Order: sequence, then structure tokens, then C-alpha cells
Amino acid sequence: MKAAVFRTSKGLVIEDVPMPQLDDGEVLVKVANTGFCGSDHSMIETGILSEGYILGHETSGIISKVGKNVKGHVPGMRVVIRPTFCGTCRDCRMGKPYFCGNNRRSIGIGDLPGAFAEYITVYPQMLIPIPDGVDSQNAALAEAFAAALHGIKCSRKEKGSALVIGGGPIGLALVRLLKIIGFGPVVLSEPLEQKRVIAESFGVDGVIDPFSEDLGACVFNTTGGIGFETVFECSGVADSIQTAMDAATRSGTVCVVSMNFGQINIAPTTLNFKEIWLTGSYSNTHKENIQCLQWMAEGKVDGRALITDLITLEKLPQVYMERIHTGKAIKVMLQIGDKF
Ligand SMILES: [Zn+2]
Ligand SMILES: [Zn+2]
Repeated sequence: MKAAVFRTSKGLVIEDVPMPQLDDGEVLVKVANTGFCGSDHSMIETGILSEGYILGHETSGIISKVGKNVKGHVPGMRVVIRPTFCGTCRDCRMGKPYFCGNNRRSIGIGDLPGAFAEYITVYPQMLIPIPDGVDSQNAALAEAFAAALHGIKCSRKEKGSALVIGGGPIGLALVRLLKIIGFGPVVLSEPLEQKRVIAESFGVDGVIDPFSEDLGACVFNTTGGIGFETVFECSGVADSIQTAMDAATRSGTVCVVSMNFGQINIAPTTLNFKEIWLTGSYSNTHKENIQCLQWMAEGKVDGRALITDLITLEKLPQVYMERIHTGKAIKVMLQIGDKF
């Protein structure tokens, strides 16, 4: 089968690789769509991947074969794929399976081979059925929305004014979900017009270009001078965490959703003088993915607006250099098998 393989000397390369082996307790999935995630870019650029590794974790497909010990999953089922976990450790019992250190297995993020490939073998516990009315491209975006929903859960807020800093796929997904859940006003700060336009189609109440407009004045005008109750940092720009704290109201919450592997400078007195709740979010759960797929089925969420580049698997190395690494694409979606 064909796969996009990571080679230390060359980056992503399309190669013919052997079909994955199917063990008795595993399921073989024929991949339909896989989205390219910002974390894929980070893993390639930091070079932490092993030679020959196959990335790709935002994926939808159809069960093609099941091992003889697998019950409840049959060929033809439409599924998305999420990590497994033990279900019994302290973290799993706290509803935080993404912290599971016992038995967490995942595809495409450095552990098991991922879905920039025609086929993939997975454990049945990884599979979430795709509801009727949700196509394979939208379903492959459920994980991006689930990551945004997880950020909202981590903020511990259910309503009120919200500022989203950074309009990448997760920031835009956040805008949509904040509107569905009932936050308001919801404002996006994003320098690229193309992303602000998508936010408008997602129902945002206000947008600001932080390069040409004064964010402080916008915060003042939008919130009657008191600041936003919740601010989500989704830009990955280090200085934005201080910007987020400055934009938050007294007793407000700042949730850092983007991942920044560097060190940051903040003025801690901002935390003191405003008693800000500063938190972060990491990964997402099966439950959050199921909720986002349900919203997709109800027509409340349509992630396809995020797709700027719908490409074949063979095109990935070229699109990586020209559109992903240069920051020109918003969401690159691979059409690997047939769309459903
Ligand atoms: Zn991802
Ligand atoms: Zn566990």
C-alpha cells in the first residue's frame, strides 16, 4: 500500500510499504480522509520521529476486516479513530484518559503507525462510529473540534464573554463551539483576513486584526471596560499569554490551548492584581469527539469550511513544503480512499 513515510534525511516521502498485519484482537480500517494537524508539523520539524514512521491521527475510514477475537465491530462500519486507554488508573477514573500512563496507545503521534496511509490497524477500543449524515471529511475534523471543546471544558466556564486569540483550525473551531454552547459576545483576534472570514461564517460576534487595530481598545469597547470573562490562547505565539491575561477581566480565566514548547515571560502581578485563573488544555476525550460528531449530524458544526487544501496522499510532500511549512494553508485534508 501507499503511505507518507518520515525519513530523517528527506522529511515526508511517498513509499510503497507492506500492508499492516492484522492480529486477532485488531481491526483493519481502510482510510478515507486524514487531516494534517499542526502537531504533525511540529513532530516533523523537531525531528523526534523514528526513521520510517507514518504520521496522521485526524482520520475517518471504513472497517475492512476484523480479527477473530473482535466483537461488536463489523466490516463496512464508518469510524473515526482515537487513542485507547486502560480505563482503571487514577487518571482514567478521573475522566482524563489522555493522561493514562498504563496502556495508552495512539496512532500517528509517535506510537503506532498513523493514517497518512491507505490502511491502518487499530484496537477496537479506538473506534468511534460516525453518525448518519456526517461525511468522511467532516468526520476527520471531529478531533480538531473535540480539542476545542476540551479547551472550553478546561476553562470551567459555560457562558459569558470570550476572546479567542489565533484563528487556526482549533481557534476557529472554538469560535463555533462557543457560539453553540451560548457564550457571548465571542470575539476573534486574528491577523489573516481569510481566517476572520471563516470566523464570521461560524457566527463570531466580532473580529479584530491585532496587527492593524488596537486589541486593548477592542477589549474595552466590547466588554464595557471590564475585560473578557474567558480568553483562549490559540496562536502559539509566546507573548500572547500575557496579551490574554491583559484582556481578561478580574477573576477571569485564561486557557492556553495552543502548545508552545519554549519558555515565556509573563508579569505575574497580572495574576495577583486580577486573580486570574490561568490554565491550559491537552488532548481530548472519546466523549468530546462523540459530542462533536453529534453536532455535525445535527448540522450545528461543519468543519469543512476550514479545508483550504483537499489533496491526494501523493501530493502531501509537495503541499507540505509549499503550503503547510509556509503557513499558507489553514487545513490540509487528504483524500486517501473514497469519500463517503
Ligand atoms: Zn491533531
Ligand atoms: Zn488509565
